[in-house]
Amino acid sequence: MQLQHHISLLPYNTFGIDVPAAHLAIITTPQHLHHISQLPQPVRILGGGSNILLTAPVPDVVLLNRLMGIELLHQDQDHVWLSVSAGELWHDLVLHAIGQGWGGIENLALIPGTVGAAPIQNIGAYGVEVCSTVESVTYWHLTDRNFVTLITPDCKFGYRDSIFKQELKGKVLITSVVFKLTKHPTFNTSYGAIEQELQQMNAPPSVQSIAQAVINIRTSKLPNPKITGNAGSFFKNPTISHTQYSQLLAQHAAMPHYPVGNGWVKIPAAWLIEQCGWKGYRKGDAGVHNKQALVLVNYGAATGNELWQLSSNIVDSVLQKFGIELEREVQVW
Ligand code: FAD
Ligand code: NAP
Repeated sequence: MQLQHHISLLPYNTFGIDVPAAHLAIITTPQHLHHISQLPQPVRILGGGSNILLTAPVPDVVLLNRLMGIELLHQDQDHVWLSVSAGELWHDLVLHAIGQGWGGIENLALIPGTVGAAPIQNIGAYGVEVCSTVESVTYWHLTDRNFVTLITPDCKFGYRDSIFKQELKGKVLITSVVFKLTKHPTFNTSYGAIEQELQQMNAPPSVQSIAQAVINIRTSKLPNPKITGNAGSFFKNPTISHTQYSQLLAQHAAMPHYPVGNGWVKIPAAWLIEQCGWKGYRKGDAGVHNKQALVLVNYGAATGNELWQLSSNIVDSVLQKFGIELEREVQVW
């Protein structure tokens, strides 16, 4: 494993922030994992860099995870079990699955990043979370120097959350994920504009048509990171108590909301941000996307600190207007 020095991270983060890393190494085989302990410590891990905001030069070793491979472990009449190496691109896995007619992850089409990062924030979109298809996650423990496999109940999956964002944060490198996909998909088209898009496509629901509908919707709404730097949704959608919701509703009758059980209600963060006047905002090269207020954008030369400051201003104004404190979804380095 070769260690490179003073490397710009510009090609490795979708926000398009140009800061250097003191050292960079690319993990391409499991053998490389045994050498990590000989590198200057601590190390940090990067997959596709699509959920990261870089605010300063990174003084550590950055490990780029590029472990590749998709293996069909076994199958029965109803299901397939796939072991997927963590460096595979998530969307390539979706394309592989829908190409075979296997269901379960078609609603998660076009999410950037790697398979290894998918369980970390339990990626979700259009009513589906990746945890519904994950059987187990295998990681390399950076200090214990051994492989561990966690079955799904032990991953503590939650809304954009898992054990890998909590207790195990910074301690492990996820090396592979086992997925259980179905040969007899049931379709989830009730969310957002999927049904409308299927009608426009004049296509009956199938894993392929749903993935294509999601791709079409996402392409029309979200900025392409290859053109405009961004990391998707910058904030999580907050959940508030029903009591707080009722109080807010008295002042904001049009507030969208989704019950999530146990008396809690999810409020779309994009709506809160838009109500505070941020949608389409731009100062220098840091801005808020004009079609989706949850997405902060780098129009070219914004620094990580400028984007961080913008995110703090948004948090402050939403707190002031609604009494809700937004939580950042993006990881900040
Ligand atoms: P990175 O950004 O490289 O890393 C994210 C975090 O995980 C970092 O803390 C990193 O250290 C850690 N990490 C990465 N790989 C490993 C590993 N193998 N082992 C241990 N730690 C690791 N997310 C959603 O949930 N739903 C969406 O619909 C969605 N849409 C998006 C749309 C756009 C346009 C963009 C830019 C982003 C979107 N995201 C979405 C966010 C992002 O794509 C996901 O969070 C994705 O899983 C990040 O993967 P990555 O490989 O780029 O992770
Ligand atoms: P949208 O359809 O305009 O909906 C706005 C918000 O309302 C979403 O965030 C969603 O919450 C919630 N919502 C909408 N319909 C819902 C329903 N039927 N039940 C429960 N909650 C509902 O959202 P969008 O911005 O175009 O994004 C579409 C999907 O892609 C969403 O699931 C979103 O999370 C996902 N996405 C995620 C990222 C990211 O970086 N994390 C980036 C882009 C898109 P949820 O977010 O909880 O689903």
